[in-house]
Amino acid sequence: MHRVTLIPGDGIGPEVAEAARRVLDASGAEIEWIRVEAGEAMLERYGTPLPDSVLEAIRETKVALKGPITTPVGEGFRSVNVQLRQALDLYANVRPARSFEGIPSRYSGVDIVIFRENTEDLYAGIEHRIGDWAAESIKLITRQASERIARAAFQYARREGRRKVTIGHKANIMKFTDGLFLETARAVAAEYPDITCDDVIVDALCMRLVMKPEQFDLLLLPNLYGDIISDLCAGLVGGLGVAPGANIGDEMAVFEAVHGSAPKLAGQNKVNPTAMILSGAMLLRHLGEAEAARRVEEAVRRVLAARERVTYDLGGTATTSEMADAVIAALEEMG
Ligand code: NAD
Repeated sequence: MHRVTLIPGDGIGPEVAEAARRVLDASGAEIEWIRVEAGEAMLERYGTPLPDSVLEAIRETKVALKGPITTPVGEGFRSVNVQLRQALDLYANVRPARSFEGIPSRYSGVDIVIFRENTEDLYAGIEHRIGDWAAESIKLITRQASERIARAAFQYARREGRRKVTIGHKANIMKFTDGLFLETARAVAAEYPDITCDDVIVDALCMRLVMKPEQFDLLLLPNLYGDIISDLCAGLVGGLGVAPGANIGDEMAVFEAVHGSAPKLAGQNKVNPTAMILSGAMLLRHLGEAEAARRVEEAVRRVLAARERVTYDLGGTATTSEMADAVIAALEEMG
C-alpha cells in the first residue's frame, strides 16, 4: 500500500484531481490517499493559501498528486506552486509532450521531454520596486542548481532510452547567468558520452520547435524558458488539456498537470482530465508501479483514439467525469 498526498487545488483542480484519483484507484496499484487542502479557500479561512499541514503531509508521504492552484496577478500573493517547489526543493520540473492518435493537432509523432530547472532564475522572487519609476528582478543562476538539473536530465535520458539532450539558453546575451547554465550542463554532458548533446539559443529553439519538432528528444532549460517552452510543446501535441508534469527532488515528488486552475471553467464538470490522469501515470511509475502506469497510459490512448467519450477541447461532448469513466472502462476491458 502506497501513501500519497492528494491536493485537489482550486478552480478546475478538484474536478480533474477527482478524475485522476478514480483512475489511479482502478489501475491495480494500492494507494491510500491523504487529502489536504490548499488554495483560495484556505486563504479565506487561515490567511494563507499554503497551510503548514500541506507541506507536512508531503514531507511524510514523499509523493503528492496536486490539482492546479490560482495565483492572483500582482502584489501580495506569492504563487503557491512556486513556494511548494522551493520549500520542498523539487528542483526538476519534468514535462513530457507526446502526440496521441485522436487528438486534433498540427503535428504527429512528437515525443519530447522537457527538464526545466525549478528553483531559481527569475522565479527566485528576488525583486523590488525602485521608488516610483522602476522595478528590478534578479536572475539568479547557480552552478549547483544547474548541475543537479543537468544530471537529472542525463540520468533520465539514459534510463528511458532517450538519445539526445538539447540545452536551451540565451548565453550570447546573458553571458554570465545563461553562460554558467550552459557551461555547467556541457560539463555534465561530458560524463554521458552515450547521449548526444547540443545546444540552441532559446528564440531559435522556438522557431525550430514549431517547424520541425521531431528534431528534438529531451530539452534541458533554465526556469523561465522552461516554463514558456513547455506550454509551446503542449500546444504541439493538442493543448494544455493533455500535458502532464512532475516536480521532482531528491526526496519528494509532486505530480501535476501543466495547465492552471482555469477559474472561468470551474464547477462545470467540463474540462479535460487527461493531463491530470497522465500526471497520475507518471506518479505510478515514480512509485515503482510500472505496469499500472502502462495500463493507465494505454487506457487513455484507447479513449483518445476512439474519440467518442472525450471532452469539448478535443471535439467531444463528454464531461470530465464521463471521460474518467471511459478511461476506467478501458482499464476494465484490458483485464
Ligand atoms: P490555465 O491553464 O488555467 O487556462 C488557460 C486556458 O487553457 C483555459 O482558459 C482553457 O481554455 C484551457 N485549459 C486549461 N486546462 C484545461 C483542461 N484541463 N481542459 C480543457 N482546457 C483547459 O491558465 P491561466 O488562465 O493562465 O491561469 C489560471 C490560474 O491558474 C492562474 O491563477 C495561474 O497562476 C494558475 N496556474 C496554476 C498552475 C499550477 O497550479 N501549477 C499552473 C499554471 C497556472
